Amino acid sequence: MSKKHTSDFVVQEMEFKELDALDQELIEQAHRVCSGAYAPHSSFHVGSAVRLASGKIVVGSNQENMSYPSGLCAERVAFFSAGAQFPNDPIVAAAVVTDMEMAPEYFSPCGGCRQVMVESESRAGSDIRFLMQAASGPVLVSPDVRRFLPLTFQLP
Ligand SMILES: [Zn+2]
Repeated sequence: MSKKHTSDFVVQEMEFKELDALDQELIEQAHRVCSGAYAPHSSFHVGSAVRLASGKIVVGSNQENMSYPSGLCAERVAFFSAGAQFPNDPIVAAAVVTDMEMAPEYFSPCGGCRQVMVESESRAGSDIRFLMQAASGPVLVSPDVRRFLPLTFQLP
């Protein structure tokens, strides 16, 4: 008998004002650091903020480099910074935003960030709520991050 591996990719679209105070704060923190992104090569500014189980918030913005592969996305800057500073304080929610006007369905994490976020969720053993917003557009909300990367790479 064959076994199927499927993913039902569903995220909820909400207006900022419909979010609770914790989600609004995370989005606001991500926008705050977005403006400080170092993105002279793409001019694509991205900000991220993660909330830890303790309530602490850690932020990140994209950091580019003229040697392109040496740069890093905002989400990974935030996730790795949280892991380095607070290794025993798991991430429970994360937001990623850009100041660029674009269709909300086109602003979502790259494959590398998805892999990192899914491993963080797996490591924590609990869901990471995930929020995405392009400029002041609608906020896409996911109750977890694993749905972003079905058939995630695993070491044997
Ligand atoms: Zn990325």
